[in-house]
Amino acid sequence: METIRYQAIVLGAGPGGYPCAIRLGQLGVKTLVIEREYWGGVCLNVGCIPSKALITAGKRFEEIKHADQMGIIVGAPAIDMAKLQAWKGTVVGKLTKGVGDLLKGNGVDMVQGEAKFVSPKVLEVTGSAGVQRYEADHIVIAVGSRPIEIPGFSFKDGRILDSTKALALPEVPKRLAVIGGGYIGLELGGMLAKVGSQVTVIEMADQLLPGFDPEVVRLISRRLKKDKVTVELKAQALGWEEGEGGATLRFRTPEGEKSLEVDYILVTVGRRPNTDGCALENTGVAMEGRFIKTDRQLKTSVSGLYAIGDCTTGLMLAHKATHEGEVCAEVIAGHNVSNDAKTVPAVVFTDPEIATAGLMEHEAKAKGFEVKVGKIPFGAIGRALTTGDTDGFIKLVANAANNRVLGVTIVGPHASDLISECALMIEMDCECMDVGLTIHPHPTLGEGIMEAAKAALGEAVHVMNAKPRAAH
Ligand code: FAD
Repeated sequence: METIRYQAIVLGAGPGGYPCAIRLGQLGVKTLVIEREYWGGVCLNVGCIPSKALITAGKRFEEIKHADQMGIIVGAPAIDMAKLQAWKGTVVGKLTKGVGDLLKGNGVDMVQGEAKFVSPKVLEVTGSAGVQRYEADHIVIAVGSRPIEIPGFSFKDGRILDSTKALALPEVPKRLAVIGGGYIGLELGGMLAKVGSQVTVIEMADQLLPGFDPEVVRLISRRLKKDKVTVELKAQALGWEEGEGGATLRFRTPEGEKSLEVDYILVTVGRRPNTDGCALENTGVAMEGRFIKTDRQLKTSVSGLYAIGDCTTGLMLAHKATHEGEVCAEVIAGHNVSNDAKTVPAVVFTDPEIATAGLMEHEAKAKGFEVKVGKIPFGAIGRALTTGDTDGFIKLVANAANNRVLGVTIVGPHASDLISECALMIEMDCECMDVGLTIHPHPTLGEGIMEAAKAALGEAVHVMNAKPRAAH
């Protein structure tokens, strides 16, 4: 069989792989990208984008229900799930088509098929056009991840949903159990609760969103309760049986074993890397558990092999994958660069949204920092009041030794958009006063960030300071 040669091959076209391939094309490297299923990866097809489309619909549905508070009188809203799914599909379709256009426009060749390593420099691809071998001096592994299945809850069963199936539901389930109170479970379960599903979340840890600031989690838990979501903590799913018109889920709680009648069980207990599907054993690449080990230039232990995104260690987030992909492309093109990002901001699209950059308060303390904390409730921000969305706060944590910003946690309206300024603060090693002295336009939610920085110094003017500071 003839082997086709490229300078670089990118394996996987998710938010790690496709930007990497585009950047390689821009840098003049003759590149092939191989994808078996989703141009745009999980993120564009069955992850970030479709979930946020549905979450937006859920939020708007709720806003319409409460519009009378602002004097807007409308009838009770109803969900046409087929229409909502079709709209979601057009959003996804526009973006995935854009990926193909950008790859082609930057001179990148695309092949659809399943790739397996024959050796560290050779891949065999089985696709609709048959079997073909490709060789390159540089191969980037960007194979991503998939949902974890738990014993007894097979995704092949119609009642058991993974995130992909949950995003494609043809109707709003009357009763839904969510196993796993992490971000994906709360985003999808929370959205379905807003449009009428009776949702129960079963979480093994003693709080939802394990690892998050407990103050934030308390607020989210209150909101879930308002949306009639039942939360079972320290609870473990044991199994399920088909019952009359539904599934009977059994789970263990500190109060004893319980059962629940539901229509579907959504399992969101985490994701595992797809490192078992591409014959990595033929490369000898060093692993950390199921994840591929890389250095700051995204190089693996094998010369000419790189890895990026969810299949490597670190946070499993799209923007982390993209950043790594772009750095990796420049490394392959011979630039002297490395991934030196100080923070990967993270967002949870619950209601309200949560966003973090840098260290959360408890993390900073656990690392031994003496901290100053500036906390501003959205209720003190004029713009928040004008939108009627005042639940939540901005918490800025600074190093008490030098007033440098260590992290910002936001729970509240538009947290996802507000956090980018905070990530920049951390990348730029800002001190609280750099933020406090930056004029923020009025009336905006961003003023809350400026005010939180001042509050950390005891100089906020729109809230009472915990410890007012007399002079500089
Ligand atoms: P993937 O997106 O998984 O892409 C890998 C690609 O490789 C896939 O298309 C796969 O088909 C292909 N592939 C794998 N093996 C082979 C092979 N052997 N041959 C050929 N092709 C192969 N992240 C965020 O940052 N923000 C969010 O809001 C967010 N929301 C999410 C919501 C949900 C419901 C889910 C499931 C995930 C969400 N994520 C979110 C996570 C995000 O989708 C992932 O972190 C991101 O997609 C990882 O990108 P990647 O390029 O590493 O891998």
